[in-house]
Amino acid sequence: MSPVYFDHNSTTALKKEVLEAMLPFMASQHGNATSRHSFGRTARAAVEHAREQVAAAVGAYATQIVFTASGTEANNFAVHGICSNLLPAQILTSAIEHPCVSRPASALASSNRGYKAHSIKVDTDCNINMAHLQKLLQAPTNLVSVMLANNETGAIQDIAKVAEMAREHKAYVHTDAVQALGKIPVDFFALNVHAMTISSHKIGGPLGAGALVLDKRIDIQPLLHGGGQEKGLRSGTENVAAIVGFGAACELAVSHLTAFDMHTENLRKHLETGLGKLNAVIFGQNDLRIPNTSFFAFPNLDGETLVTALDKVGFAVASGSACSSDSDKPSHVLLAMGVEEDLARGAIRVSFGMSNTLEQVHHFLTALEKELNRLRNLTAIAA
Ligand code: PLP
Repeated sequence: MSPVYFDHNSTTALKKEVLEAMLPFMASQHGNATSRHSFGRTARAAVEHAREQVAAAVGAYATQIVFTASGTEANNFAVHGICSNLLPAQILTSAIEHPCVSRPASALASSNRGYKAHSIKVDTDCNINMAHLQKLLQAPTNLVSVMLANNETGAIQDIAKVAEMAREHKAYVHTDAVQALGKIPVDFFALNVHAMTISSHKIGGPLGAGALVLDKRIDIQPLLHGGGQEKGLRSGTENVAAIVGFGAACELAVSHLTAFDMHTENLRKHLETGLGKLNAVIFGQNDLRIPNTSFFAFPNLDGETLVTALDKVGFAVASGSACSSDSDKPSHVLLAMGVEEDLARGAIRVSFGMSNTLEQVHHFLTALEKELNRLRNLTAIAA
């Protein structure tokens, strides 16, 4: 059996139709989108078409899309760009944010310019503690950033509520929707935020493209200065092929949303029934979650060890620290939810995509049981 990929939240395969849309711009159409000649105009038209596709996928206007090279860049841009234009105050990010949101906030806080960074608590189900947010908002606030869907547990946050609270206190609101797009409906206006991040490679588009969706009235400082591309908000020659692919992937992701949800939720249901029989602790199981994600642990078993063991028998899954280079540390998301450090160290994430099958899930459960027994026996011998 060829290796089975259960790590679609890390990155997912480029869709065939996306590759086809990109190919001309990797071969014959090599124009720079800022050039005035016909090659440049062809590239420009392709970028603007992709901008329309991306905007349509999130219910925004094309003029609100600023292309970046990744979700990481868009998140850094949002935090730095919005706060840099304001009189320094506090920046609130949730305790479960991806490091590319929380670290720019702490970088600003350590810049001695007067910014402060505070973390908004979550409850044991991975939901934002609104009372804590309300309390924090009593102090002057530049920005509140809370992710729409968590990359580890899959928990979905009530962003419209967060936005309402933040706006009452005249704070700007940003949401990282990288893990939400293509998995649940994402509507920029309904979320009522000032800025929203999305990323191409999480939805079947290529690596190397992301976007910040912006409220047009917002005054934001660019991170990258230079030739003035993206209306001066993100200099750098546009990666035309990647942007074209991102646009095509957005269109496909939205049209396949229902099928994705039904398919991956069914796989997760079978997986979690099997995990229950193996006495796994499933994090946020009763939570409102994106349908493709399951995060679980087995007491007294190290997650990294299990990930390696499963990889050897043909299953690619992630450990709790998959999105961070600090892989020796337990998941900050689980710690924020109050999970004991020992149990958090055992965390494993399975994230499904359309290419996965029920048969793969059943094979996985069999392999998992075998590996659990083998590792427990080894631990017993060593003790
Ligand atoms: N935000 C979330 C929630 C993510 O899961 C990730 C990647 O895993 C990112 C941001 C970063 O996106 P990118 O890989 O496009 O830089």
